[in-house]
Amino acid sequence: MPVFQSHAGQIYIVSAPSGVGKTSIIRAALPALPDLRFSVSCTTRHPRPGETAARDYEFLSREAFLKGVESGRFLEWAEVHGEYYGTDGRQIEEWISAGDDVLLDIDVQGARQVRCSYPCAQTIFIIPPSLDALEERLMSRGTESVEQIEVRLRAARTEMQDAPWYDYVIVNAILEDAVADLCAIVRAGRCRRSVQARRLKAFLVPGAPA
Ligand code: 5GP
Repeated sequence: MPVFQSHAGQIYIVSAPSGVGKTSIIRAALPALPDLRFSVSCTTRHPRPGETAARDYEFLSREAFLKGVESGRFLEWAEVHGEYYGTDGRQIEEWISAGDDVLLDIDVQGARQVRCSYPCAQTIFIIPPSLDALEERLMSRGTESVEQIEVRLRAARTEMQDAPWYDYVIVNAILEDAVADLCAIVRAGRCRRSVQARRLKAFLVPGAPA
């Protein structure tokens, strides 16, 4: 009887091509979803200006990362743009066993791996309104050269091919709307009958058809 499924925390996976504004959306959504845990990934890439260890990433040497891979530390890991990135499996398991929801900011390779271990994980892909809009956004940032922007646009076009695999697609045309969409997906997830089963059970007459 599906109504009596036990409640474990839900996993929400967010992916996007680079430059689409995923980090801004997640940063703005987290305070609005106080019960949602954010999974801080491990990476071998160097911190960017303004990034803080433990808040943005756990920054590891390649040796330490590969040791983690060997010891089975990671729920998923992948090479992205020549660097390794991975999600600490024990932390995720602890959170969801305690009934806490978790948000993962990972790429499509990682998303597919997590889905294998947690088939109920909800997957969300963020896209720009158009490739022209993405180009404009990258140009106005002024942090990349024209050549680098070309590389990113080509990569974005390729990454976008994975979008149909995801459960949800958010278009980041207006930041506030995209944040509201992400919050709505998580809130709707929490209203699913399987998630509310324990509460619901208290109202149901034993033996009545569900
Ligand atoms: P950035 O270096 O710009 O922070 O991230 C580059 C890419 O790596 C992004 O697409 C981001 O979602 C992805 N990423 C970050 N952490 C992880 C992780 O733990 N696993 C995987 N598979 N990808 C990750």
